[in-house]
Amino acid sequence: MQDVVEKVYEQVVARNRGEVEFHQAVHEVLESLDPVIAKHPHYAEGALLERIVEPERQIMFRVPWVDDAGQVHVNRGFRIEFNSALGPYKGGLRFHPSVNAGIIKFLGFEQIFKNALTAQGIGGGKGGSDFDPHGRSDAEVMRFCQSFMTELQRHIGPSTDVPAGDIGVGGREIGYMFGQYKRIRNSYDAGVLTGKGLAWGGSLVRTEATGYGAVLFAQSMLATKGDSLEGKKVIVSGAGNVAIYAIEKAQQLGATPITFSDSSGYVVDEAGVDLELLKQVKEVERGRVADYVERRPGARLVTGGSVWDVPGDVALPCATQNELDGDAAATLLRGGCGVVSEGANMPSTPEAVEAFQKAGILFGPGKAANAGGVATSALEMEQNAGRTRWDFATAEAKLTGIMADIHDSCVAAAEEYGRPGDYVLGANAAGFTRVADVMIAHGIV
Ligand code: NDP
Repeated sequence: MQDVVEKVYEQVVARNRGEVEFHQAVHEVLESLDPVIAKHPHYAEGALLERIVEPERQIMFRVPWVDDAGQVHVNRGFRIEFNSALGPYKGGLRFHPSVNAGIIKFLGFEQIFKNALTAQGIGGGKGGSDFDPHGRSDAEVMRFCQSFMTELQRHIGPSTDVPAGDIGVGGREIGYMFGQYKRIRNSYDAGVLTGKGLAWGGSLVRTEATGYGAVLFAQSMLATKGDSLEGKKVIVSGAGNVAIYAIEKAQQLGATPITFSDSSGYVVDEAGVDLELLKQVKEVERGRVADYVERRPGARLVTGGSVWDVPGDVALPCATQNELDGDAAATLLRGGCGVVSEGANMPSTPEAVEAFQKAGILFGPGKAANAGGVATSALEMEQNAGRTRWDFATAEAKLTGIMADIHDSCVAAAEEYGRPGDYVLGANAAGFTRVADVMIAHGIV
């Protein structure tokens, strides 16, 4: 790293002690900026780098709620409004016991550049809580969501900050939160949350968008080599929103996904994942991956090791951060994997990314590959603002066009800064310059 960039990184580490995921995300972006700043030194002037790594606003709040047995629980809520240069803060809410300020900050920081890549006029933010929805009744989840929104509502709005879902937050949670927002504000601001139900302002394709986008990104990367997903064996991690629709799009494009996972283990189904059964188990019954194996002859559940032990041509990490380390990357490469497209946020550790890049395989980083979700959220906002609704084909065509543009922007930036085919550099450089140019135009704010 150049001295000027290194100093900014050291300050981030000193100021945000113990927030290792945030340090990791900042390091990856700053490292990519060396050739950008060498070519355009003005990006390091006016403390622009120091400003971009500092959230505009961080909100942390108490979320008290009562369980079905009458016991009171206290969780912690977060919203990081990181950067509004390009538009209202936009980014999901994560409900998972591992959530803390550092996790939300890393996600918010990534979101700035991802959202810039979509070219949809959205700033970067992220939020959530250490609440664990697993095993909670609908009534408990509703009371938690209502308490969470009772505080969050004073900070958000259709032109201010527009949250969406993430791990542990799907249509049910967005519904409970929207209901509470509307009640407190006495205002049907459909554009205040995205990922809404279709009957109350949601967009077709939003549910599918992140998983579909990650697969479309893999297809675009393969196309640069004159190849495609047709006939490829695909290893998928996760069994939530992103994983399910990555599997669906991969199947539509002629590939065969053979795995998925949750925190209880992974499933190998050599015949190809039975998508309807997986949706039934995960979306309808909110069950575990073992429930799939019980009903699917030939599928096996593995509770030790890692899903990356299974050989395949393409890997789609769609669960969580740092789920794919250096050893797993080496195993994937030995198994013949030639493409990795990140559905999750920062699922590959720095060692894994280095191994993929050294091996010269196609590697699509999450901030580009999984941007389809937030891009379609922006399309949902656009439909809400126009009080209109597009059909599935129209929304999907827009998503496909946006993913192709993101891919091409990454390719062009990687070439411009002298590392053709480096999608990490391409995504970081293209996203950064779009935000930085506007921050410069807005003056020192
Ligand atoms: P879901 O909650 O729908 O699914 C998450 C899946 O990953 C579940 O199968 C879950 O298993 C598993 N998982 C989560 N944490 C862990 C963990 N610590 N160890 C093992 N397995 C884990 O979330 P999404 O599918 O929405 O999100 C998945 C990833 O995609 C996240 O990184 C998210 O930030 C990213 N993403 C999501 C977007 C979206 O539109 N939803 C947009 C862009 C990125 P279990 O149920 O057992 O915990």
